[in-house]
Amino acid sequence: MQILLADHAGFCFGVRRALEMAEEATRSHERLYALGPLIHNRQVVERLGRQGLVVCEDLEALPAGAVAMIRAHGAGPAVYDLASERGVTLLDATCPFVARVHRKAAQFVRHGYQVLVLGDPNHPEAQGIVAHTGGKALIVEDPVDLENVHLRRRVAVVCQTTQTLESLRVLVGAVLPHVQELIVANTICDATVNRQEASVVLARRVDVVIVIGGYHSANTRRLAEVCAAAGTPAHHIETADELQEEWLTGVAKVGVTAGASTPAEAIEAVIERLREMGSAESG
Ligand code: SF4
Repeated sequence: MQILLADHAGFCFGVRRALEMAEEATRSHERLYALGPLIHNRQVVERLGRQGLVVCEDLEALPAGAVAMIRAHGAGPAVYDLASERGVTLLDATCPFVARVHRKAAQFVRHGYQVLVLGDPNHPEAQGIVAHTGGKALIVEDPVDLENVHLRRRVAVVCQTTQTLESLRVLVGAVLPHVQELIVANTICDATVNRQEASVVLARRVDVVIVIGGYHSANTRRLAEVCAAAGTPAHHIETADELQEEWLTGVAKVGVTAGASTPAEAIEAVIERLREMGSAESG
């Protein structure tokens, strides 16, 4: 069985940057807090926990003088205000590509546009984008969400950085007939585009794709979707021990891709396990 790895797989720029900041800060601070899991990867979060990084969902629970990290997903202005009120020092790992979406969305609101955010309403990145518009933007996951929304004459669309171009096209197509002016800022980040494109190329060359990444990782879930949309069965796993023999029955070529928060060790472990399973099958 041949194993092919996607050209772009694993840590993106924003995740790597956040991890480097965390690792450096845990060396100089006895205790460091992260406002939510630093990245959507359980194994990495557990490792950082052993180095002194404590996940905390509620800034109000932190003592004055604490140091807390904002994740690559970013946070709304209220978090910065509350930190300063409570004497908490923030270490800001907001990915610059996410910060760019914050600025765009806020700018569109200032210019009088109704702002739609293509994204997952339960995802902290999409919620952070809305917070930077003073709560004025609306998160849309699917055009169906617009059924009961009164669209104004001037609308602007931005995206959560991990969306697919196809979802953006669908939303734009649904909004355009109902408005006089539509501005679209394609804020899907390059890392997402590269991973999705490389995964589709891979999916077309193999019989099955293994997509590695946290189950809460939006960009990993999108990779599984684009592979399946390319017509190739795709299985999303977090770790090598979740691989199942039956996925490989009769498979000559297996593809491996990984989300932006998947460490190289997790990818290597899956490839190693696939090699073992492949040789067991042919033996
Ligand atoms: S997926 Fe894109 S926006 Fe998100 S952290 Fe990575 S580089 Fe930044």
